[in-house]
Amino acid sequence: MIPFNKPFLTGKEAHYIYQAVNSGKISGNGVFTQKCQHWFEEHYGFRKALLTTSCTDALEMAAMLCDIKPGDEVIAPSYTFVSTVLAFVRQGAKIVFCDSCKDNPNIDPDKIEELITEHTRVIVPVHYAGVACDMDRIMDIASRHNLLVVEDAAQSIDSYYKERPLGSIGHLGCFSFHETKNIIAGEGGMLTINDDRFIRRSEIIWEKGTNRSEFFRGEVNKYGWVDTGSSFLPSEIISAFLWAQIENMDMIQTRRKEIWEFYHNNLADLSARGFFTMPDIPDYATNNAHMFYIVCRNLQERTALIAHLKENDVLAVFHYLSLHRSKYAVEHGISGYDLPNCDRFADCLVRLPLYYELTDEQADYICGLIRDFYSSRK
Ligand SMILES: *Cc1c(COP(=O)(O)O)cnc(C)c1O
Repeated sequence: MIPFNKPFLTGKEAHYIYQAVNSGKISGNGVFTQKCQHWFEEHYGFRKALLTTSCTDALEMAAMLCDIKPGDEVIAPSYTFVSTVLAFVRQGAKIVFCDSCKDNPNIDPDKIEELITEHTRVIVPVHYAGVACDMDRIMDIASRHNLLVVEDAAQSIDSYYKERPLGSIGHLGCFSFHETKNIIAGEGGMLTINDDRFIRRSEIIWEKGTNRSEFFRGEVNKYGWVDTGSSFLPSEIISAFLWAQIENMDMIQTRRKEIWEFYHNNLADLSARGFFTMPDIPDYATNNAHMFYIVCRNLQERTALIAHLKENDVLAVFHYLSLHRSKYAVEHGISGYDLPNCDRFADCLVRLPLYYELTDEQADYICGLIRDFYSSRK
């Protein structure tokens, strides 16, 4: 069976974990955590980067930093993972769902402004498949209406919008190092802070509501409880794992992009004949090869294609169900939306296996199966 995903180990993970364990300091904010954070700050120009235990946690920190209160409204796409909105729901916000673009699952900037009310506080663009949303448009809308922007950059490591790294454009950015992402730590994440107003408070919320980080830098002579917070920082064991991945990021990205291009080239003729569409990378965006998907013509055909691949030992999978149609949304009165593009991606999008160790032969085999499938259709 060719799995949909296989977590890639660089070979150095256990070595760095051994170092962390041997150092005797395995709780958070130690040598490996700081190495990772500095690397991200230097490499991508984030004002500040804080490792977290997941992207879900980074989003929770973001919702706390935005000081979301009951009654506030947050605009997010409906075609996304639950975590994008969950953090804001926990702070009491009402989620207002926006449709996707016609050509890709990202939030449609043309449809944001009509959703803004006097209660709107935050826009949460999700860079689906690591392909940038139209950030100039979104930041412009936000600044005209005095809103904050939290980028859900879970899938977006090493991807750019007009040469600016994703996660560095909004006020805050949230990344994931879950084992299904490009670089991994098992479970892991990162909050990026790009607006100076949030920097001091972000460290405090990260360290359980205390000014412990300032104390360890020698900036204050005792530390204590100063604000709300939680335990968002990962242990050194997780950061040590992540460091091995960071060191091999170029190698990982190069191979993922090769596989992505292989699919794209090999399926171009079928796509040109109208059987399905392939990912649309706008001129302003780069491709970090987080995902390769095709969008089928309808749900029945997608179901049949997934079954055909499975019968031949290939696991291809669909993705999000529209959040505005979820049980939670229906029960909480945030469901009555008409979001046709979102629903179409929910019904028709299918993701093909893409991981470092996938071989050209395997990718070729998968393309051949797709070719077989469409040979009897018109
Ligand atoms: C993976 C993912 C998340 C959640 O990341 P975790 O690290 O598992 O919490 C959130 N949003 C999007 C868009 C994702 O792809």
